[in-house]
Amino acid sequence: MSALQSVSRKDHAPGAYDVVVVGAGFAGMYMLHRLRGLGLTVRVYEQGGDVGGTWYWNRYPGARCDVESMQYSYSFSDELQQQWNWSERYAPQPEILRYANHVADRFNLRRDIQLNTRVDRAAFDESANSWSVTMSDGKTVIAKYVVLATGCLSNARMPDIKGLSDFKGRVYHTGHWPHERIDFTGLRVAVIGTGSSGIQSVPVIAEQASHLTVFQRTANFSIPARNAPLTEEERQAFRAKYPEIRRFAREVARNGIYTEMPDRGALDDGDNERRAKYEQRWARGGLTFMSVYNNLGLDKAANDTAANFVREKIAEIVRDPQTAKLLQPNNHPIGSKRICIDTDYFATFNRPNVTLVDIRSNPIEEILPNAVRAGGKDYEIDALVLATGFDAMTGSVAKIDIRGRHGQTLNQKWAEGPKTYLGLMSAGFPNLFIITGPGSPSVLSNMIVSIEQHVDWISDCLAFMRDRGFEAMEAEREAEEKWVAHVNEVAHTTLYPQANSWYMGANIPDKPQIFMPYIGGVGVYRQICNGVAAKGYEGFVMIAAEQAQRVATS
Ligand code: FAD
Ligand code: NAP
Repeated sequence: MSALQSVSRKDHAPGAYDVVVVGAGFAGMYMLHRLRGLGLTVRVYEQGGDVGGTWYWNRYPGARCDVESMQYSYSFSDELQQQWNWSERYAPQPEILRYANHVADRFNLRRDIQLNTRVDRAAFDESANSWSVTMSDGKTVIAKYVVLATGCLSNARMPDIKGLSDFKGRVYHTGHWPHERIDFTGLRVAVIGTGSSGIQSVPVIAEQASHLTVFQRTANFSIPARNAPLTEEERQAFRAKYPEIRRFAREVARNGIYTEMPDRGALDDGDNERRAKYEQRWARGGLTFMSVYNNLGLDKAANDTAANFVREKIAEIVRDPQTAKLLQPNNHPIGSKRICIDTDYFATFNRPNVTLVDIRSNPIEEILPNAVRAGGKDYEIDALVLATGFDAMTGSVAKIDIRGRHGQTLNQKWAEGPKTYLGLMSAGFPNLFIITGPGSPSVLSNMIVSIEQHVDWISDCLAFMRDRGFEAMEAEREAEEKWVAHVNEVAHTTLYPQANSWYMGANIPDKPQIFMPYIGGVGVYRQICNGVAAKGYEGFVMIAAEQAQRVATS
């Protein structure tokens, strides 16, 4: 009997599990559900006070999804997707959090989730082929496998700005927003940061604040969401087509979103036809603006046509020409940073109570007790909102002291950039899986599609190991090196590396600048992962129980 089977018994030793899962967002919850289905003993540790991950932490005004809710939702349970009623095209954060809680209750997940508990350390014991996992409460448990469901955008980044701690008013980070309702009525507010979080929150804060000052370092491309309530008819139409929509999102789409596949490039159309297509997508709203042509991410001249269109739209919306000019992105191709989806973002700068400050030419010098000083000028404020983003993809993993073979830490191994095979495992760290890790499509996709694919693959893999009496599994170094090179090579056939984006780690000082996600598309990636599994997990080493015993005693 393998060790996995032995710890799977109902009378497993206290503090010993088949699998420890770190994180109870959409990834951790579905992982728990699938592992339970295999009859494994599982413990999930979540540092937050409840499930939901991203949607537990990001409670800022205006927070909502940018992939339509009928698609940004689990597909593993047809009953769930047929019964859940999304209220809007893009559900607001409280509703997505309610959905996460509904899933936790519906599938009875809570009994195996320990909240308010951070995983601080995980060390691989080579003699037992198991992990010793230590939590913030000082307790240690043993697990055959560890799954990191720690999230790609879960490590909110406080900017290193002089004087920040001296500010006398309240400071909020969008990624770590308080639970109580924050009312900015009558206050002078500053928002620093104009990525998706800033762009979503600015219009809502502007409606409350007596004055809002937006500090912009980089102007971003943003497309109108055209959010609206969903009618019962629309929901039903979607539900009826779910089998096809989900299949397409998983197998065909590059980004896990059901939409038309373009069959031509932007320069294949004349000016009028191209403009008409962009107008149509602008009117429709949403992320699929970027899939009007098949070469916007590949060809700079093609990309320029879309970028110019959006810049013209900004100039049409924003009345003050100087402000409009500042809001027009000019230092990266459209889409090479995560494109933003907004509701009235640009129009907000027409309000008399909103000021835009360009901190690229006049950087913030310091935060004073009652003001932000930039370009020699003091902007007096009562409250400060930091929409400054995350240490993305690797940040939450790096916070855990993970020690693999020979005591090597994952941070040592990833010092020059993350190295994984398929984004799922890293050589030298047996039985440690990552969901939507660097080297997988993850953040370039509808994340729930990517999460479900990884969870299913890992579950199938553990079932395979159990059925064949394997004790441990590890990525081969050669396979990993080839995959890292492939991820890099594919990225450099696109325009993405031309932007200083968080995809590249460029938002974190001293972080190695490497394009982290796999850009080949979720459909292609799924085929690769399935092919690897079909070939008996090609590129991975599987170790049988007896072999492990010999290795341990030799
Ligand atoms: P998370 O939801 O980040 O959950 C990870 C959990 O792990 C967190 O709760 C964290 O507290 C916990 N954790 C981390 N480290 C530890 C530790 N050491 N110990 C214990 N617990 C730990 N994606 C889309 O596809 N569409 C969208 O519309 C979309 N909108 C987004 C909006 C915002 C504001 C943000 C920030 C991200 C958005 N994303 C979106 C990406 C989003 O992160 C994913 O869609 C998805 O929610 C990720 O789920 P997850 O479970 O992988 O990670
Ligand atoms: P982000 O995209 O990294 O944006 C951070 C912003 O803060 C950028 O404008 C950045 O400027 C600025 N900034 C960072 N440090 C700064 C400093 N020290 N001084 C001044 N400005 C500083 O972060 P985000 O907006 O939180 O979004 C992260 C990702 O989460 C998104 O790309 C998306 O994937 C997801 N998200 C999605 C939604 C949604 O619509 N559903 C909403 C929020 C987030 P530079 O660009 O110059 O670095």
